Amino acid sequence: MHLRLDEIPEEGLRVQLDMDCSWAVGAVSTALDGVVKELSGSLRVRPMASGIMVTGDASVLTEQHCDRCLATLLLRLGGDVDLYFEAGRLEGDSSINLHQDELDVGFLDDGSLDLAAALGEFFLLEAPTRLRCEDPGVTQVEKGPCELASAQPGDQPPIDPRLAALKNFQSD
Ligand SMILES: [Zn+2]
Repeated sequence: MHLRLDEIPEEGLRVQLDMDCSWAVGAVSTALDGVVKELSGSLRVRPMASGIMVTGDASVLTEQHCDRCLATLLLRLGGDVDLYFEAGRLEGDSSINLHQDELDVGFLDDGSLDLAAALGEFFLLEAPTRLRCEDPGVTQVEKGPCELASAQPGDQPPIDPRLAALKNFQSD
């Protein structure tokens, strides 16, 4: 869903998020690399002097896998959305005084915001880099101990063929 800065009404736009928003479901499942089971939220998109502000809240339930035992998990992510997209990087423009610590700042592509991509990125930033069965927001689908998926005994890591060649090279 692309929104042009000059086409957003002054009072802003309301965007309801649910499973019927195929653009949002598709973008979020791509960003999180997992099936989206639930999606909800409400966004407000407002035009600013030099960009677009997106506020509100968004929540998703997505199918993921434990990084330790590889079990299927349901992970719930979400929270307050507070994003700002600048129209462009203007050289030496000091009129834009952003509090970068408080806002996630992105940039518009030719005056237009890809709301689907922005939503996907929002959830990606909320997602943990490593996911374990015991993590907050996780529901186990397959019950069982969370143990490291072990390699078969006797398995040797494959030797890089380039290293194997070096092994045979011996200098006197
Ligand atoms: Zn696990």
